[in-house]
Amino acid sequence: MAKINRRKALIALATGLVSLNSRFLWAESGFDLGLKGQELLAQGKYDQAIEILQAGVKLEPDNEWLWGLLGRAYFQKKELRKSLDSFRQVLRLNPEDTYSRMMVDIISQKPLPPKIEPIKPLTPLEKKALEEEKQILDRLQVENTLGYRIQRVVLDPGHGGFDSGAVGLKGLQEKEVNLDLVKRTSQILAQMDKDLKVFFTRTEDYFVPLSARTTTANQYSADLFVSFHVNANENRKPRGMETYFCSERASSKEAARVAEFENSVLKLEKNELIQKGYVNIEEILFLFERKRYWEAGGEVASLIQNNLKNRLPLKNRGVHSANFYVLRRAKMPSILLEMGFISNPEEEKLLAQSDFRHKLALSIASSIVSLKKSRI
Ligand SMILES: [Zn+2]
Repeated sequence: MAKINRRKALIALATGLVSLNSRFLWAESGFDLGLKGQELLAQGKYDQAIEILQAGVKLEPDNEWLWGLLGRAYFQKKELRKSLDSFRQVLRLNPEDTYSRMMVDIISQKPLPPKIEPIKPLTPLEKKALEEEKQILDRLQVENTLGYRIQRVVLDPGHGGFDSGAVGLKGLQEKEVNLDLVKRTSQILAQMDKDLKVFFTRTEDYFVPLSARTTTANQYSADLFVSFHVNANENRKPRGMETYFCSERASSKEAARVAEFENSVLKLEKNELIQKGYVNIEEILFLFERKRYWEAGGEVASLIQNNLKNRLPLKNRGVHSANFYVLRRAKMPSILLEMGFISNPEEEKLLAQSDFRHKLALSIASSIVSLKKSRI
């Protein structure tokens, strides 16, 4: 008996020592570290972001997203050599990553700062050259941060018309919940912030193709696109709310499943003409911008989910990412809310209640207003 206890104690001690040595052992995955790094980047805490992201790439050396974020963090710190190395790592993992290719081009076209600081005093000419380089870097940095202020928001009630979305056991339809929540959210937003302009992708119960939803948002030159949805699962148990942003690959199997469901209406849309040999120039040019919008979407998703989790009685299922068709062509940061599970009998009951819908809409509106104030 004493032996077992001693063994247990040793294991506990060893675990404790490992935890002490590794500050990031508590983290679940590289994805968590990436989200934290992204948040720190958004707050301008570049040193902390670098620390977290370095831990991330140590944990998952093949995670291109983490390398890309690390590249951005170093770039902000003007550690151009390290930034260049990080973006090169992204390209090693994914040679088609156009954003990193662009960054490698931008950084390597500039004279890199010397590895060792010059000991000799600078000549006036060198001083002038350094000053000019600093100005170029400052300008680039301004161009590189999205730095936008939210003034125009597009609210997108998911599904509509023949596409009812998910349906609960009692017959509650996702399309109806989404539309009602969008209407309530916009009314509250109008009361909370008179300067904010709010647009919709649909105002009644009719079908809108996924591609038309983002086209609308792009035409309105919105600064934020929020797609409203309610989750569902074959299993009645899952519950809670989660926020998504767009990424090429899903952050988890569950995220991939949710995106597959939300994208499923695409099969019924006829306007997606894919012609062989047809090259869409605009699409290619947009590849460069897209990644920045997606990353900003991740920052927005974290801020909104953090805000909502404190306000709502729903289980916090966190932030995830996947390839949502409705988000991928938005020329602005975009997120998709999954506000509870209609397949969970208790949450279906809640989602049918006017009081609960008001609470949800109020929380979403407040989150958007506080996001507007915080400025990314
Ligand atoms: Zn949906």
